Amino acid sequence: MTATEVPTGADEAAARFRELYGRAPGGVWAAPGRVNLIGEYTDVNDGYVMPLALPHTVVAAAARRADGRLVLHSAQAREAGGGRQGVVRLDVAALRPGAVPGWAAYPAGVVWALREAGHPVGGGADLHLTSTVPAGAGLSSSAALEVATALALNDLYGLGLTGPALAVLARRAENVFVGVPCGVMDQMASACCAAGSLLHLDTRDLTYRRVPFDPSAHGLALLVVDTGVRHALGDGAYAERRAGCEAGARALGVESLREIPYEALPEALGRLADPVVRGYVRHVVSDNRRVGRTAELLDAGDVRAVGAVLTEGHASLRDDLRVSCPELDLVVSAALAAGALGARMTGGGFGGSAVVLTGADTVDAVASAVADAFADAGYGAPRVFPAVPSPGARRLI
Ligand code: ADP
Ligand code: MG
Repeated sequence: MTATEVPTGADEAAARFRELYGRAPGGVWAAPGRVNLIGEYTDVNDGYVMPLALPHTVVAAAARRADGRLVLHSAQAREAGGGRQGVVRLDVAALRPGAVPGWAAYPAGVVWALREAGHPVGGGADLHLTSTVPAGAGLSSSAALEVATALALNDLYGLGLTGPALAVLARRAENVFVGVPCGVMDQMASACCAAGSLLHLDTRDLTYRRVPFDPSAHGLALLVVDTGVRHALGDGAYAERRAGCEAGARALGVESLREIPYEALPEALGRLADPVVRGYVRHVVSDNRRVGRTAELLDAGDVRAVGAVLTEGHASLRDDLRVSCPELDLVVSAALAAGALGARMTGGGFGGSAVVLTGADTVDAVASAVADAFADAGYGAPRVFPAVPSPGARRLI
């Protein structure tokens, strides 16, 4: 089992900034990746989700400029598909959706979204970014990158924006500037999670409640299993699921599927002719219910019972929404066979990661069962680490 990554040091990031830009940064900020415990594809239907922040973070060392230039550097640019392009120089006034290729579109999109919303960040900035969030693993490295940038700009320019306001702008950057049609969960999780808790979030109005979550106090552990299969949500499957959900909402005469109460599900399904859309609707309505059920169980101190809810959620994602894949299904079946209390895929699916709730005394057995099952199937070795609920975005220096 891999040890929990220690967030990249703020001092190292500041030192690297000095090397790159020849001056001290105005500050250093961190924004975490996230894993979603329950509530999948519900955020794109105005529903409920329940993520937690990971100890893995994007760290941004940054300083204001006054000449309208945005200079971006990422320590992981090469892995992020930036080739040798370590430093990217842009004109703030010339930022347009689609005009910035590659990884730099995420931070540049945030600056664009801030300007579009009327915030005075036209002077530009120098940024050095470095990350311990694995990219493309369904753990939201993209949102961490956006939120770290947004928080840095917010402080450097004294904008006084709240976490939810920054999350909304970061999501707009990803939707419009980068062109990825994600929901708001990832950015809200990165901006608003707190250590030791889950974020019970209503994605319609962005109200949330932090639900204390300490599985170790109950003799349990929550594991993340990164299958190593890199999802490509751009392949149309994600857009197709969203379109199918919207078609379902239209057919049922509601603005979004979040408005269908769980008790009304049988009647609603009876009004839908298309079996594919019926499956999507059943998934979204029942997963909203599973988020509520999980909150009730945690409030009652019954953490063990959450396991069955996770496994039920996986079946729904696999059979009704059809966004799982053989590797994710194998994590779930191998973990359950090794005695885990519950498991499900997390994030957009088609690869990425799964979460497993298990007894603290069966962590090693579950991790090796999953590793063995992957080896037997001829898959690459999965990466397993504990999901310790960690702080949301914050200033480090
Ligand atoms: P996820 O958010 O699940 O990790 P995405 O496909 O949404 O996956 O985002 C991954 C993309 O984010 C990468 O392809 C890259 O463009 C960008 N990215 C992530 N981490 C970094 C980093 N440390 N430096 C530069 N770009 C990064
Ligand atoms: Mg992402």
